[in-house]
Amino acid sequence: MCNHNILDNCDLCKAKRTGHLITSSIFPAICRQFKAQNGRVHYCLPIVVGGATAAIVQFAFDAPNNPSDVKAVEARVFKAEQYINESLAVIETKRLMSSLHDSALIDTLTGLHNRRYLQEYTEKIVAGVLRRGKTIGLIMCDLDYFKQVNDTHGHAVGDIVLKDTANVIRQSVRESDIVIRFGGEEFLAVLLDINIGESMIVAEKIRLNVQNLKIKIPDGEIQKTISLGASEFPEDTSTLWSCIKYADVALYRAKEEGRNRCVRFTSDMWKEDQV
Ligand code: GH3
Ligand code: MG
Ligand code: MG
Repeated sequence: MCNHNILDNCDLCKAKRTGHLITSSIFPAICRQFKAQNGRVHYCLPIVVGGATAAIVQFAFDAPNNPSDVKAVEARVFKAEQYINESLAVIETKRLMSSLHDSALIDTLTGLHNRRYLQEYTEKIVAGVLRRGKTIGLIMCDLDYFKQVNDTHGHAVGDIVLKDTANVIRQSVRESDIVIRFGGEEFLAVLLDINIGESMIVAEKIRLNVQNLKIKIPDGEIQKTISLGASEFPEDTSTLWSCIKYADVALYRAKEEGRNRCVRFTSDMWKEDQV
């Protein structure tokens, strides 16, 4: 019932800005954002959590005709307000729990999801892709000779390299794909809904983008390369985590073969590496 611009800018809302109940029952023009027709009256009640307005509950009534109707409306709003106040502790706890949960699944350095995130959502991801009859591409990426960066330029510069590399990988895949910081300088790109064979095209794109990236560091610029191993689920094996292992096996091969390259997993690699 409000001006829709409020969805883009919640500060247009007077109840949000002031943290107080705003009603048109006494001053009809108190809020210019309220657009309901036919003489309706609003009561906009802010829910204040942790000192900030977390939400607004809006009630709209037909304009009361006489004092006893006004009283009845006010009594109903008052009751709702009491109910909301009683629930505040629960709302706040839920909000905190949810932000705590989200932050435990995110890597603080790069902002990427971490391995735990993948563990938590494996079933959902797999079910969706299988339902759509598509393939998941798994690309395990590991920076080449990354230790040298730390040894030569220090740990802080190493962190810059990790952040920039994470961004480049993110930008090399689709928005809907998932990029995980899998370990120190290891990243896993999870490509959702690809067609069989497409993982190597994306792997090569990541490799080139990392190779071409000029990383700005305090004393100039550096360039790094990355090695990648690719596998595809469910074509290579029927569980996602063994497929991730296969991508890692292929990555190993890429390192052995001289680094700065992409290797597609093949079943003969696993037999060799198993022993
Ligand atoms: P390779 O080409 O075989 O992958 O060699 P590499 O030097 O990249 O691999 P290695 O596993 O020997 O070294 C990885 C280094 O990554 C060692 C570790 O100290 C560093 N590292 C891991 N996590 C972080 C981090 O969060 N920040 C920084 N700066 N360094 C990290
Ligand atoms: Mg490594
Ligand atoms: Mg490495």
